[in-house]
Amino acid sequence: PYITGNQEFYNINFIVTPKVLIPRPETELLVEHAIQFVKSKGRQLSALDIGTGSGCIPVAVAFNCQNVEFTALDLDFHALKIAQKNIRQVSLQRRISLVQSNLTSGIFGKFDLILSNPPYIPEEKLLGLDVAQYEPWLALNGGEDGVFFISEILEDAPRLLTPHGEMLLEIESTLGEQVLEIARNHFPNSHIELLKDYTGLSRLLKIYKE
Ligand code: GLN
Repeated sequence: PYITGNQEFYNINFIVTPKVLIPRPETELLVEHAIQFVKSKGRQLSALDIGTGSGCIPVAVAFNCQNVEFTALDLDFHALKIAQKNIRQVSLQRRISLVQSNLTSGIFGKFDLILSNPPYIPEEKLLGLDVAQYEPWLALNGGEDGVFFISEILEDAPRLLTPHGEMLLEIESTLGEQVLEIARNHFPNSHIELLKDYTGLSRLLKIYKE
């Protein structure tokens, strides 16, 4: 994809450069659940995507649902420039706003839907993977135990999620139980589940706030 500069995701063509993670098929699961949630509500919703990279998540969801507006954030300014191109390509600039922010530290307000495919590969494991040679370290490295960003996101999320809102986080398949425990600490009264991807691996954390 970096050679051709393109990658298809959820039937949409995305511009990719080495500044952004190449969209993965696993992440289509997150998009599918997000679309299901937005369609089930019917009314106008606000959504947040944390660490948007190429912008593939908000673009795929907003392209398929008219009733959603996104704030998409990234720490990396170069990634935001790529996301901007991808948003313009499908004329979604009026429904997807880009913000440069270190996780949600610069974000205020409430969202009906919070999404993220954060960096989640444990550092030690990442050192042995081919992807680390080509793709941004910032988009992959989940810290020593792989849950650094997931913990940070879950810690700040309660103030951002509306009642009856939903949160969907992509996770590393081996970290399911650990992530569940962190989620239960921050959302003690919410319905929390772990969903499997199409290869049968735990891939998605879903939180539904009562
Ligand atoms: N699924 C990606 C991979 O296996 C990891 C993406 C991420 O860390 N968010 O390379």
